[in-house]
Amino acid sequence: MTLTKPRKSRATRRRRAHLQRLLRRQKWRCYWCQIKVMPYVAHGHPCKATFDHLVTQSAGGGNALSNTVVACYACNQRRRDTDAETWAAQLAAERAGA
Ligand SMILES: [Zn+2]
Repeated sequence: MTLTKPRKSRATRRRRAHLQRLLRRQKWRCYWCQIKVMPYVAHGHPCKATFDHLVTQSAGGGNALSNTVVACYACNQRRRDTDAETWAAQLAAERAGA
């Protein structure tokens, strides 16, 4: 039995630093709906901070800072693979109509 704690992998630390930079850039708000996001709530919480890709990964978008934004879990779930322009237009229409 070992007492050493498992260390976070390099990839995990990098991912976390990346998320922090995005959070600072967006002042802790969802890129799409401007709700305050929280990185440390349980997975599945609607305000959970998640990575979102402007050009979706399914469309070949990468993980560069310029292509990634922080979105709340709710937006991320709803958007899925919708391209950024269509999704932004859909949100604007909802805001105007509601
Ligand atoms: Zn959102």
